[in-house]
Amino acid sequence: MAKVELIKLFKTYNKKIKALEDINLTIEDGQFFVLLGPSGAGKTTTLRCIAGLEKIDSGDVLFDDENITHDQPASRDVSFVFQQYSLYPHYTVYENLAFPLKSPMRKLPEEEIKNKVEKIAEMLKITNKLKNKATELSGGEMQRVAIGRALVREPNIYLMDEPLSSLDAKLRETLRVELKNIQLNLNATILYVTHDQAEATTLADKIGVLKEGKIVQIGTPEEIYENPNSIYVSQRLGSPKINILPGSLFKLNNIAKIGLRPENIELGNGPYEGKVISTENLGSETVVAINFQDNEILASIQGIYKSSINEKINFDINTNKVLKFDNGDQRIYER
Ligand code: ADP
Ligand code: MG
Repeated sequence: MAKVELIKLFKTYNKKIKALEDINLTIEDGQFFVLLGPSGAGKTTTLRCIAGLEKIDSGDVLFDDENITHDQPASRDVSFVFQQYSLYPHYTVYENLAFPLKSPMRKLPEEEIKNKVEKIAEMLKITNKLKNKATELSGGEMQRVAIGRALVREPNIYLMDEPLSSLDAKLRETLRVELKNIQLNLNATILYVTHDQAEATTLADKIGVLKEGKIVQIGTPEEIYENPNSIYVSQRLGSPKINILPGSLFKLNNIAKIGLRPENIELGNGPYEGKVISTENLGSETVVAINFQDNEILASIQGIYKSSINEKINFDINTNKVLKFDNGDQRIYER
């Protein structure tokens, strides 16, 4: 597959809506790159610009160092998985999977098509559905076929637009794991966009965090989680969410705001005293909401933590893990 580079990409819609502003990123051959951002951040637009479905204002798109910015969509050789199912309803699963291989340009022998389709069907666990019409599938199966239809070819890059977002939580989790395994098996180059943090952390080799059409940080999932460069980035990953609190609350009077992850709070003893607002038992952990000097702080504790509402509670924080931010919500790095 190919290395894909975006250089200084700008895209506006209707001459005024700035959808992308100075996007720079490199997706290495064989890399699983996830663009993470909320709705409207510019995720779909980025994919459409790479596929050539949108005309960009300025900037360059390179495939293996070759500039393809002005190439027609058909000649770019990318596979796109759209957010909503896009199968041919009157075709069987087999025919849907075989379709991308049947282009007259390719002229693949029937036997080779069959082998490829069966291999992908097996990977996606839909072998027993090959004869079904696309309309005879559940939502999860349809999306498996849609992903399979992209993966059956080996293009320059797979572009995936929130392909799991319409599925229920359980299925999303299963397909997430399967997709990662398939990508490792195929050594595929994938640009996957999502607003779902769990997808980003489990799938990505690299995450690019998108905010209002700009990439604000690129890093491994660990780097983005442990070393975010702003409050915005710190809030993209982590569940329950990071606590953003005034520095003065912990006598850090020169620091505008601090970020404190719920797992970096220890309950039971310590110099700080608050009151329990609520507890939520999630099985493997308990999330305790604490009122501390009129600020709500979430702490997550391994296992079950028993306490009652309004009970006084002492706690301590892991000062090594406190993230410091300035007035502009940007990270202050220690020297
Ligand atoms: P995302 O996929 O992250 O939700 P999009 O790339 O779809 O974001 O949209 C980015 C911005 O561009 C949004 O402000 C959106 O309203 C705008 N936009 C997207 N497509 C169009 C379009 N065809 N015409 C006008 N504005 C658009
Ligand atoms: Mg979108």
